[in-house]
Amino acid sequence: MSAPVTDVHVHIQPWEMLRPAVVEAMRRGRDDMAEVERALKDPKALLALMDRDGIGRLVLINYESPDVMGFSTATNDWILEYTKGARDRLLPCVGINPRFEKDVRGRAERLADGGARLFKVHGPHMLVAPNAYLDAHPSLRALYEVASARRIPVMFHTGTSVFRGARTKHGDPLMVEDVGVDFPELDVIIAHGGRPFWTEEAFFLLRRFPRFHLDLSGIPPPRILEWFPRLEEIADRVLFGTDWPSPGVPSIAKNLAAVRALPLSPATIEKFVSGNAQRLFPPRA
Ligand SMILES: [Zn+2]
Repeated sequence: MSAPVTDVHVHIQPWEMLRPAVVEAMRRGRDDMAEVERALKDPKALLALMDRDGIGRLVLINYESPDVMGFSTATNDWILEYTKGARDRLLPCVGINPRFEKDVRGRAERLADGGARLFKVHGPHMLVAPNAYLDAHPSLRALYEVASARRIPVMFHTGTSVFRGARTKHGDPLMVEDVGVDFPELDVIIAHGGRPFWTEEAFFLLRRFPRFHLDLSGIPPPRILEWFPRLEEIADRVLFGTDWPSPGVPSIAKNLAAVRALPLSPATIEKFVSGNAQRLFPPRA
């Protein structure tokens, strides 16, 4: 039997914390809101959707962004609780914002003890640069040290964000270069590949650092090979992701079908949708 399909980038989050303008942006144009809302409330409903669509595992992205998005510090505990009964299929991702947390090291350790599988640094929404440990937020270094020591990957949002208050400058992938230089043992995920106007920078980093991975989420599948024509050079480090249910992403299943239809070998596609994620997020006993 082949390994399960893993979507490494799904936004199951506590929407009740979201600022009204953000909720409106999330809802706009969706015809599956009832389904989404059931899944947000009940992990069993989400698992049923996954079974229907042939998706084995999801990484559920959460992070603190109290002032831009509305996600308070409780968001991390929320996702640990939500995933509790199904950690083999629902992998919790948490994010500590050093603008609001004094003890980043202690918090990272506690969240890791609590089962966190991934740390998210969302620069444009946290208003923190990936390399801010060099100047504005020295405590960010502790996050990368804990993640390296405990073999927990760190995902960086790269590219634009249009939510009100978001600052895209913190999504410049070149700021992750410092992380690659200073934390060579850290597994890094470059979410969205710097799209739409930093894809060359992102690809440079992906080739330079053997522990850097590309998450395809947020890239319309027809544009993947246009923006990353040499994708096969990093085939062992490409991860299927969708960003569902963010604006412009109708469903995980449609996205998966489009990625499977890319003009690449079946073995390569299998790595993207399943094998690479299985290696980066190995099943836990
Ligand atoms: Zn996202």
